[in-house]
Amino acid sequence: MPHHHLPPVVVQTGLDQAWRDAEEADSHDPLAPRRDRFALADGLVYLDGNSLGALQPSVATRIQQLVTDEWGAGLIRSWNDAGWVDLPGRVARQIAPLIGAEAQEVAVTDSTSTNLFKAIGAAWMLQRDHLGGGERRVLLTDDANFPTDVYVARSLAALVGGLEVRVVPPDELMAALDTDVAVVAVTEIDFRTGRRHDAPALTAAAHAAGALMVWDLAHSAGVLDVDLHAWDADLAVGCSYKYLSGGPGAPAFLYAAARWHRQLANPVAGWFGHAAPFAFDLAYTPADDAARFTNGTPPVLSMAALETAMDAFAGLEAAQLQDKATDLTSRFIALVDAAGTELEVVTPRDPARRGAQVSLRHQDAYALTQALIDRSVIGDHRPPDLVRLGFAPLYVRHVDVVHAVAHLVSLLRSGDWDQPRFHARQTVT
Ligand SMILES: *Cc1c(COP(=O)(O)O)cnc(C)c1O
Repeated sequence: MPHHHLPPVVVQTGLDQAWRDAEEADSHDPLAPRRDRFALADGLVYLDGNSLGALQPSVATRIQQLVTDEWGAGLIRSWNDAGWVDLPGRVARQIAPLIGAEAQEVAVTDSTSTNLFKAIGAAWMLQRDHLGGGERRVLLTDDANFPTDVYVARSLAALVGGLEVRVVPPDELMAALDTDVAVVAVTEIDFRTGRRHDAPALTAAAHAAGALMVWDLAHSAGVLDVDLHAWDADLAVGCSYKYLSGGPGAPAFLYAAARWHRQLANPVAGWFGHAAPFAFDLAYTPADDAARFTNGTPPVLSMAALETAMDAFAGLEAAQLQDKATDLTSRFIALVDAAGTELEVVTPRDPARRGAQVSLRHQDAYALTQALIDRSVIGDHRPPDLVRLGFAPLYVRHVDVVHAVAHLVSLLRSGDWDQPRFHARQTVT
């Protein structure tokens, strides 16, 4: 049967059968219709939803209408009439089921970095003020963590005084849990390699050692079967411009387990976290749920973009997202292995031990990434030597996986990746 619709690069690299298998998988994929919500150019393979999720045209329409009608015409009245004041709560209801939480345990606010400061700070104050853990002076994290997470922990330690940030390799976290540890704060998915922590086991170990557990779900929410209740997590934070597709700089989220609500204090308390902001009372009475972790006026434009973007997840279970992500990453790894190139898959091969990304080691990963982008296969580079590709289950197809591998193989066989223009460094990699 002629396959005139096969991209030429697929034929050139002999991946015809792999393409047909992928088409078959796409035809049975229950998430396939969700891709139609997104605006992805023909021929574009977008494997960077882990850095910036793709746009849905419905979001552009919503923002246009909000600016023109609600801000332009409605003005201040829109806080009530257009429901702006309830936006963070509505988005919390959308995010909660994807992370195994109740809506009142989720605050949608600020950046992930700021939420980390509040979450780790609140956990530390909970230890000191309510759990008798004031003698515990260590914040424990791992050296594969995202740098902002470590910066935040260190700035908190500098502010509090007498706290130590203990940074150990990921597989030494358990051994580093002693009676000095007040809070463990790590990221579930290693942003470089895609390695996944055993969250239930680490949370249980932290609790057994008397520590509180804070999870960073930046590369987990919207793509993995996150279940904060089942893990028994104390606090968590996450990002909404990555797999949740909320748009560049979209507000992040903070989870606080209901069992701690009354005892948790926001270290950056502000009027929007007050039980009655418009009472303008100088005495601070926090909201009785996770809303106490908001502080200032919500960013209505980006919050509304996120709300509309989250419609793409309506009715989906986190397990479905993870199943599709696993299928995509497994297909990708198998094809890279079969191609026999010099690329090394650094992401764990056990699907239970990885996120929705695959990272490939290459001695000149920056140039190879640029060459891929030049061929409309968009991933990113993480130094020193990784090509990082994310497989967002809502809009990446199985045929996209084959297309990406075909371009990788073609670039490496031809040496086309090694052109001077692909070596020129830009600011955002
Ligand atoms: C992306 C990411 C962040 C981003 O934090 P921002 O404050 O939103 O810039 C934080 N932590 C991890 C682990 C991330 O991957």
